[in-house]
Amino acid sequence: MLTSICGINWGDEGKGRMVDLLSADYDIVCRYQGGNNAGHTVINEKGKFILNLLPSGILRGNVVNVLGLGMVIDIKHLNEEIGRLREGGIAITPENLKISDRAAITMPYHILLDCLEEDRLAGKKFGSTRRGIAPAYADRYMKKSFRMGELLHSETLWEKIKDVAEWKNLTVAGGYHHEPVTAEEIMEYFKTYGEPLKEFICDTGAYLNEAHREGKKILFEAQLGALRDVDYGILPYTSSSSTIASFAPIGAGVPNLRLDKSIGIMKAYSTCVGEGPFTAEYFGEKADRLRKAGGEYGAATGRPRRVGPFDVVASRYGIRCQGADEIALTKLDILSVYDEIEICTAYELDGKILHEFPYPDVLPACKPVFEKVKGWGCDISQCRKVSDLPKEALDYIRLLEKLCGCKITYVSVGAERDEYIKME
Ligand code: GDP
Repeated sequence: MLTSICGINWGDEGKGRMVDLLSADYDIVCRYQGGNNAGHTVINEKGKFILNLLPSGILRGNVVNVLGLGMVIDIKHLNEEIGRLREGGIAITPENLKISDRAAITMPYHILLDCLEEDRLAGKKFGSTRRGIAPAYADRYMKKSFRMGELLHSETLWEKIKDVAEWKNLTVAGGYHHEPVTAEEIMEYFKTYGEPLKEFICDTGAYLNEAHREGKKILFEAQLGALRDVDYGILPYTSSSSTIASFAPIGAGVPNLRLDKSIGIMKAYSTCVGEGPFTAEYFGEKADRLRKAGGEYGAATGRPRRVGPFDVVASRYGIRCQGADEIALTKLDILSVYDEIEICTAYELDGKILHEFPYPDVLPACKPVFEKVKGWGCDISQCRKVSDLPKEALDYIRLLEKLCGCKITYVSVGAERDEYIKME
């Protein structure tokens, strides 16, 4: 059984907490794309954990966690993340963590290049998280990456390091006029941060195929949402990897297997980190109110998120991209602050009403069409069954189902593990 959990919107939909909840039914949780550029926040009985690289299943003792080949892994960051979790009493061993030998390594010079380019762009910047993700993916396609497996095969490593350092300096020193990187510092980096990870590195494709044959249940966990996908997202304000559910088997290392189910995580309102068009955006006091109610500050960067009401146009597109069979709606409790709730039901472009998500270049010219529905205006965080919900909250859920054309199977009403409702 292969299930994917993916984001319908701009990311930060609360995928981490849904994976944490659903992973109880799965044997394996697997990341298949991205790096440490986004963060999941998971709160459970052991505490509050921010996970940038490790799958959320790491917080459950009996779940095996896989970092798939589609990822770019900052090994320094991974060591720190493992260290923080261990301090919090979470056991991390080769039994519950497996890292693909084919995953690429995010290097310090990738982070440097990301920062140099973002600084060069200045006012025209894309809003990179400056964690080296785009340069790391660029090198993958240039076939100049270091892969995790190379840490196990050090015979040829030194020669490759020298070649890569020479090539990188054409850009670092030659292009950006920055101090050159040295082969020695790269080697030192591998020694310091690669050594402790060696025990986790393996052929995760072989592992996952075997596990699948044995009937194990596998959950794929995406980072970011459909609108940040490198191809289907709002270019160029996207991530550098595929955030799409159908990429999961490829990025995990099992291109021979098919997904059985795609669960889309969709937020009850809209949030967006970084630059780029965000049609339903609220500004001023309206934005402050929603941002404050939802605690909308980036988990990885602490940046205040841009906020707005639920966007039907973008969400329907996200659901299509993700091939979502069902939806988990998150953070419905945040809307309790409203007596009347706005929904962006369409975009207006040059006097025409759009219901389909347009080509990204025309997005800046689109204006949101807001409609109002009745709010419930009371705390719903204690609701655990559909019958506990106020009528207006249930109406809101049913309306989103209708507008988006996808059934909602879970609704979360708080950040803690048990603060959710399974819809009937
Ligand atoms: P992710 O990257 O998609 O996992 O999302 P983030 O971790 O960036 O953002 C989700 C945030 O909302 C975290 O702080 C969660 O603890 C919190 N959260 C998730 N679901 C709910 C919910 O239903 N209600 C409330 N109030 N908070 C939630």
